[in-house]
Amino acid sequence: MSLPPQFLRELTRIVGPAGVVSTHEGRLTYECDMHTFYKGLPDAVVLPTSSAQVLDVVGLCLRDGVPVVPRGSGTGVIGGAMAPRGGVMISTTRMTRILDVDLPNRCATVEPGVINLRLSDAVKGRGYYFAPDPSSQMVSSIGGNCSTNAGGPHCLKYGITVNHVLGLEFVTGAGEIIRVGGKVREVPGYDLTGVLVGSEGTLGIVTAAIVRLLHLPEAVKTILAAFATIEDASETVSAIIAAGIIPAALECLDEPMIRAIEEGVRAGYPKGAGAVLLIELDGPRAEIEAQAEKIVGICRSRLALEVRVARDEAERALLWKGRKEAAGALGRLTRSWLLQDAVVPRSKLPQAIRAVNAIAARHRLLIAHVFHAGDGNLHPLICYDEEKPGELERAVQANDELLRTCIALGGSVTGEHGVGVDKAENLRLQYGDADLAFMGRLRRVFDPGGVMNPGKLLPSHPACGEAIRRTGKTAVPSGVWI
Ligand SMILES: Cc1cc2nc3c(=O)[nH]c(=O)nc-3n(C[C@H](O)[C@H](O)[C@H](O)COP(=O)(O)OP(=O)(O)OC[C@H]3O[C@@H](n4cnc5c(N)ncnc54)[C@H](O)[C@@H]3O)c2cc1C
Repeated sequence: MSLPPQFLRELTRIVGPAGVVSTHEGRLTYECDMHTFYKGLPDAVVLPTSSAQVLDVVGLCLRDGVPVVPRGSGTGVIGGAMAPRGGVMISTTRMTRILDVDLPNRCATVEPGVINLRLSDAVKGRGYYFAPDPSSQMVSSIGGNCSTNAGGPHCLKYGITVNHVLGLEFVTGAGEIIRVGGKVREVPGYDLTGVLVGSEGTLGIVTAAIVRLLHLPEAVKTILAAFATIEDASETVSAIIAAGIIPAALECLDEPMIRAIEEGVRAGYPKGAGAVLLIELDGPRAEIEAQAEKIVGICRSRLALEVRVARDEAERALLWKGRKEAAGALGRLTRSWLLQDAVVPRSKLPQAIRAVNAIAARHRLLIAHVFHAGDGNLHPLICYDEEKPGELERAVQANDELLRTCIALGGSVTGEHGVGVDKAENLRLQYGDADLAFMGRLRRVFDPGGVMNPGKLLPSHPACGEAIRRTGKTAVPSGVWI
């Protein structure tokens, strides 16, 4: 679809000439998110600076039945922030104001384009931070985090984004502006904040968020525990939680990942170990000293090959650098990889890992693991070389099988990244027709014209999928982590 000149003039009237990108070269930047498999070029990109402008742009699109695609920083890995049917992309990158920091009420009100880490940086001098920490927190936006209900390493202890969103200002697909939730904990009526968080731009656009701020912990301690096998490491995860300790983070990496990291980053992970657990504790100093001792004991009793408590901040930072640069480091072992994000109940981790590795062997592929073990949130990276005939197809097949395996183990097709276009069809593995039909009806309440982020989140009409181009390449630059 291409937009008539009159429509472009009206967009320009709303956001100003600097707020419209309509050249082919300009729009190419917005062709995909980090899931570069899926591409779709918007007909125009607008960069509003206020909620009122968002409202007017949505109103205009609604009038002419033009698809609307919200976009934050474009770090999503599900093909959520790209335009399979063209239309207008609304990018929030110019809505970056922290509108209010209210420390007595421990919350802040921010525009959607505020970068996650920027909010924590803005309040840390006063002893506070914003807890949800997707590994992309250096670049992803709070609007995007709300819309995908992002998780992150420290969400094990502190909860995912929805647990930290008190209220939202939202422009619905029906062209209205609504305000849900608020600074007080309990608000009457339906929990619409809960409905809108995680709605992936299919119900409308977040134009402001009231988010919870937490006190910075008094102390932090990081422990590395190495094991002979990834199953031993996964069983230790359950043992730690069963002992009544909820670490701030509990991450797991397997042998190929350790090898790649040690070749690239040299984080000091024991070479030759089958798996490494990174366990982080935070809280009052006395409490975490006692917990650290207990965890060291549990790891040793579970036959850990090595247990090491980081002695200082430099060692701690190096251990995390290895974890953070894992995805980039994997480039040493493979040309391309397909990142999956499936979740199983934590106690099923050993079984799930065994099953995924069996799938890898059956398809003659390497699948490397780096995951939020405490949440049961797996991130298998399926390695392939698209130049080798049939390898991409085998990778896609393995991807499908591992999702089915996680569902069979009582898990879900997505742990934290969301559904987007990538897993819309996979929702059928998890929900029945009645469930999906109900979700479709809810969607229409907010978006009666069907203009909001078409083709995403719910299984949809095949015509939408036809417009999506699969390129078969995925790339994450070194220095970013999943
Ligand atoms: C290296 C790397 C590491 C990552 N680590 C994690 C992780 O640990 N945990 C995790 O959960 N995710 C992770 N992600 C995925 C991604 O960063 C998150 O999903 C993030 O929340 C997306 O934010 P964004 O601003 O980039 O949104 P985008 O990618 O721009 O958009 C994501 C979705 O939200 C919608 N959207 C964006 N802004 C709005 C808005 N204002 N209103 C309504 N809808 C909107 C879009 O339409 C799209 O569907 C990672 C990604 C990368 C590349």
